Amino acid sequence: MKFFVTPDVYRTRYDRCKTCEEFNETLKQCKMCQCIMPLKAKLSQSSCPKGYWLAARFGNTTDIPTLDPPGDQG
Ligand code: SF4
Repeated sequence: MKFFVTPDVYRTRYDRCKTCEEFNETLKQCKMCQCIMPLKAKLSQSSCPKGYWLAARFGNTTDIPTLDPPGDQG
């Protein structure tokens, strides 16, 4: 298991955070988990507390989940 995700996964995760209502742009911090997202989004086993992105088992792009929150699809 890789400790860090690939740059593609990191960008996908962090881009989602930047559009999230829980993201504090000034502190780069999630208001739900209090994590500093430029760091947390790099860790392969971390996940979004609202389910917007999941842990990446192998740290690669095949593990990028949907960018829509659960329940918003279809
Ligand atoms: S971790 Fe999830 S809830 Fe927190 S800012 Fe990112 S997308 Fe939003």
